[in-house]
Amino acid sequence: MEQQQSTNETSLTKQGIVSSEISDFLISPSGAQVRVSDLGGKTVGLYFAANWYPQCQSFTPILADVYAQINKQVPKFEIVFVSSDEDQISFEEFYLTMPWLAIPFSDLQAKKSLTKRFRIEGIPSLVILDPSGVPIQTEGVDLIYKYGIQAFPFTPARVSELEDEEKAKHASQTLEKLLSSHGRDYLINQIGEQVPVLELVGKTVGLYFSASCPPCEKFTPRLAAVYRSLKQKNESFEIIFISIDRDKSGYLKCFQSMPWVALPFEDETTKSLLKYFNIQGIPTLIIIGPDGKTVTREGRNLVNLHLEMAYPFTEAQILLLQERLDEEAKSYPRSFHHIGHRHILNLVSASSGGGPFICCECDEQGSGWAYQCIDCGYEIHPKCVKELDMDDDEDNTVRTEDQLRA
Ligand SMILES: [Zn+2]
Ligand SMILES: [Zn+2]
Repeated sequence: MEQQQSTNETSLTKQGIVSSEISDFLISPSGAQVRVSDLGGKTVGLYFAANWYPQCQSFTPILADVYAQINKQVPKFEIVFVSSDEDQISFEEFYLTMPWLAIPFSDLQAKKSLTKRFRIEGIPSLVILDPSGVPIQTEGVDLIYKYGIQAFPFTPARVSELEDEEKAKHASQTLEKLLSSHGRDYLINQIGEQVPVLELVGKTVGLYFSASCPPCEKFTPRLAAVYRSLKQKNESFEIIFISIDRDKSGYLKCFQSMPWVALPFEDETTKSLLKYFNIQGIPTLIIIGPDGKTVTREGRNLVNLHLEMAYPFTEAQILLLQERLDEEAKSYPRSFHHIGHRHILNLVSASSGGGPFICCECDEQGSGWAYQCIDCGYEIHPKCVKELDMDDDEDNTVRTEDQLRA
């Protein structure tokens, strides 16, 4: 569809950019002026980013690495930085970290019109133009995160090839393939001992992507309680901590609070797992079944919703729990005056205006049944509701209307 569009109204040759949108030249890291026509024959990425935005700061080195690798033998991929920086100094500071071209900071008109033309709503954003200047991808950032250098030349054909490979990989996935690499076939436990990956084969396994950050520190104790309770019941369940901490002290601090095993710190498998599962944020809990295939990526949400009842996280189990929740919800009050919000909250379900949300009370993810103030965008788990003036609030559960009146 994008291609079709580009052949008529948005048809875009590089000469088109230069004459109508960019004054006349781009700048290079050495300060030299480069004509847009010099980009001829290369795939070009328009990189919309800004110094002040952390996501841009973390994506830029990844993009720089891919850029260097693609251009190792023959230069065939060029990037043009389109800055949303607030002033010349921030622009220069950020541009120092980039090995590619840029639109001069002073060329406000060019930046504005490109942002408008490609309907850029968030940064970082990477729009790819093929060697003839036709835009072929707007999701360049995702593609780089997911496939790295493999994504080149970003054509729809290349992307669908990669998606097919991905599907095949997931279909032949095993726990050993996921976790063992370069001769390491073990994980480590709390006291630093090696635990063979083979010991985990045949179990339900949670891959817990985490680091020392507030949302993880909040979720880990909850997950640990679920884990301990399942272990007590002798369930065949294990969790593996996959740390994306930047430093070892963060990793050790996290691991100390966990009763399960871990991948060694900075093991190269971490990077490939992040890519393979396309991890976008933490904490994330991915559940692998006894056959080594992925059961669900929603482990965190399911643990929040159902605690140990979520085990073994299979579709059948979740459906069962869902039905039970729906049944229970019949006795929930339709509306509630929660202690933490000044308006009356209304009961919603996924089919009646609810949807995935972050609970304003416990900061955890939720979906399905919730209490909501639609005007304020305030939404909480039913289990997090606290009645105004409740004195014996031992379990935070919702009272029925009769109880409320009593
Ligand atoms: Zn909550
Ligand atoms: Zn409100």
